[in-house]
Amino acid sequence: MWKFEGQEHIYKLIQNSMVKTRINHAYLLLGPEHIGKTTLSLEITKFLHCIDEIKPCQNCDQCVRINETNHPDIVLVGNTISEIREIQEKVSLSPFLSNSKTFIIHNGESLTIEASNALLKILEEPPNNVTFIISATDEQYLPSTIASRCQKLELYPLSTERIYDYLIQHFDISNDEGKEEAKLISKLSKGRLGWAITAYTDTNFLQTRNHDISLFDQIINGDMSERFLLSQQLSNNFNKNKDNIYTTLETWLSYLRDIMLLQTNSHELIINIDYEKKLIELGNKFELSTIIESIKV
Ligand SMILES: [Zn+2]
Repeated sequence: MWKFEGQEHIYKLIQNSMVKTRINHAYLLLGPEHIGKTTLSLEITKFLHCIDEIKPCQNCDQCVRINETNHPDIVLVGNTISEIREIQEKVSLSPFLSNSKTFIIHNGESLTIEASNALLKILEEPPNNVTFIISATDEQYLPSTIASRCQKLELYPLSTERIYDYLIQHFDISNDEGKEEAKLISKLSKGRLGWAITAYTDTNFLQTRNHDISLFDQIINGDMSERFLLSQQLSNNFNKNKDNIYTTLETWLSYLRDIMLLQTNSHELIINIDYEKKLIELGNKFELSTIIESIKV
């Protein structure tokens, strides 16, 4: 049984390929960050190696070893040229415990040109009984020569309701406060289950997000000197931790988007549902162009 929520179209495709004994030698998983590409690549790997009739069984030696990242025929490969060259060495060796080998490459978009060229050479003449599972946020970030040699498997965002139901069941949430939080996080996740799970389990998540929103308010309501001071702080933080700044910008963009949606009376589509009143106030107080200009400064 697939231990993965959603993306049934991908299971069906892989299962059908197995029935027709047409397992591709390379798959390319495509989807935004935190949508579940890493988890799905492991589920596909289990499916390919599982020895039970109903695959992936999650219990056979193959499945258990893959779950424990303790399978000699499954190789998680990095993005550097030296790591890709390692594949060249390992690819022709016979598998130890399985009938085939699987090489998994995450963040395909981070492959250097040299590494991409080395990988392409391997994909051009794929050895028997070897499968590659490469994941990337977008096909356009990979050389077309690599993408064209893979079967593309696109992961789609899940519905807000499905993410909410998953959080409620998976974390056994029964109290009203927990349900409210799950509702908010499922809206904010934009269909990315991995993101929702990380946000729900990160005890600082809501605090950080609320802080980012208060910064947004300070910028909109502040004068030029206050905005300048804040932009300097953000710039300093950017040098220390880029990921945090990207998270802040993502929160601000979602906030801006919600203001626009409220101005067009699309209340049901906003994601920052706990700030609806404040968003309406901001929309009434400022023209959208003024808000965008403030952020640009
Ligand atoms: Zn199994």
